[in-house]
Amino acid sequence: MAELSKKILTEMQFKNEVLKCEYCEERPCKDGCPAGCSPFDFIMASRLMEKQDFLRAAAIIMKNNPLGGICGFVCPDRHCMAKCSRRDFDGSVKIPEVQAYIIQKAKELGGIPEFLKPRSNGKKVAIVGSGPAGLSCAAFLAQKGFKVKIYEEKKKPGGALNLIPDFRLPRRVIEGDIEFVKTLGDIEIETGKKIDRAFELLEEYDAVVVAVGLWQPVLPGIKGEEKAITMVDYLSNPKKYKFTGKVAVIGGGATAVDCAVTAKKRGAKSVEMFALETLAEMPLTEKEKQELFENGIEVSGRTTVLSINVKKGKILNLKTAKVKLVGKKFSLKDI
Ligand code: SF4
Ligand code: SF4
Repeated sequence: MAELSKKILTEMQFKNEVLKCEYCEERPCKDGCPAGCSPFDFIMASRLMEKQDFLRAAAIIMKNNPLGGICGFVCPDRHCMAKCSRRDFDGSVKIPEVQAYIIQKAKELGGIPEFLKPRSNGKKVAIVGSGPAGLSCAAFLAQKGFKVKIYEEKKKPGGALNLIPDFRLPRRVIEGDIEFVKTLGDIEIETGKKIDRAFELLEEYDAVVVAVGLWQPVLPGIKGEEKAITMVDYLSNPKKYKFTGKVAVIGGGATAVDCAVTAKKRGAKSVEMFALETLAEMPLTEKEKQELFENGIEVSGRTTVLSINVKKGKILNLKTAKVKLVGKKFSLKDI
């Protein structure tokens, strides 16, 4: 609980964010949400902070986004927050954090409101993969009366959500949203079941949805890369690896930050990220950058790694080079 409470706004911080909301008639924040959630409506619903207010606000969130608890923790600030009217004034309302607070509060106050179980339409759908896409798909199909069965290869559902470290997305939040999805209709999840030939499921089901995600690592194609650990391998089971020296992370996105911070938290002496972007250009939220600063991660921007130098089976060092942006030269005629 301690780790979770660190990631949730305090009551005072929540009030502060809610008081910032202007309840803009045009709902620009809703336009920015890929899931169609309306921060205007859930902030408005929760503003008096009574039990019923939190339950109603949580229902508004989960109706549009059955993974609303998870999104409250991991949605980047380039969606709803980027459209918030207060953005250029004194900073956007911290909508994902407000959302996470509402869901957490609703759970503490007796749970997420139940949705009506739909009448069966007599059709069955198989979904291969229980990551965010598979779970969301199951939620919406089940609410339309389909009987849904999700097949998951791994021992626990969640897919790529399980690669996000606990310090950024607590396990109980993932579990809570999955439990909620299962209440939305006739949904069964079978774990530990690998499906090689998804089309064969059509003999038993009316439709099959393949939502297996992208698990193949993208390797840079450099000498020595076979000595590197891929992001999927590392984040799937960080306990398998013990680093006490220097760790290099190649990449500048959110998963690179997850690897870097996890390595540092788990005992690496120092961690350095090598990215083509500068720190300011890296596609990270303010929270993710904060994780870098708080954990003392070094960042070498505008840098490419040319090779991983190995001697007697051990990594010696990296060969790197600075890169620079090459832009088109404009002449006055282009302007
Ligand atoms: S755009 Fe921002 S201020 Fe306006 S309703 Fe949405 S969250 Fe509130
Ligand atoms: S936090 Fe995520 S799900 Fe919620 S409104 Fe913003 S973009 Fe949509």
